[in-house]
Amino acid sequence: MIAENTAGVPLPVRDALSDPYWTALEDGRHIFQRCGACGHAWLPPRAECPVCLQAAWAWETASGDARLISWVVYHTAFHPAFADRLPYNVAVVELREGPRLISNISGVDDPEALQIEMPLRLSIEREGGVAIPRYVPAPENG
Ligand SMILES: [Zn+2]
Repeated sequence: MIAENTAGVPLPVRDALSDPYWTALEDGRHIFQRCGACGHAWLPPRAECPVCLQAAWAWETASGDARLISWVVYHTAFHPAFADRLPYNVAVVELREGPRLISNISGVDDPEALQIEMPLRLSIEREGGVAIPRYVPAPENG
């Protein structure tokens, strides 16, 4: 679900399940869920493990190390609030711990600089007053 703030930027809608996720980002931590039954880890927040459907999960804090799985570069604004930042990338990022999320790679002006598997580092940035997880290129992370 998406809500709009007064600036027009679409913002996430918090619910009971996702509230700890957004609160942790405000505190400088990126968290994900890990299943206590099978060990699978995932994003975004959901009530049951997507692999074994057990509800015995716990929050874990991500290391911040990640890698670039895929991306596209938007040359068309599909929401008017993003028109002034064209072109921009939308990326699939995989945390070292396994979960994947849709994000942006910051600090890369030339889309040609993006490479499959490139190491990334978490960069919590504010968008419309909300802390969101973005990523920046990183030196090789082990
Ligand atoms: Zn499981």
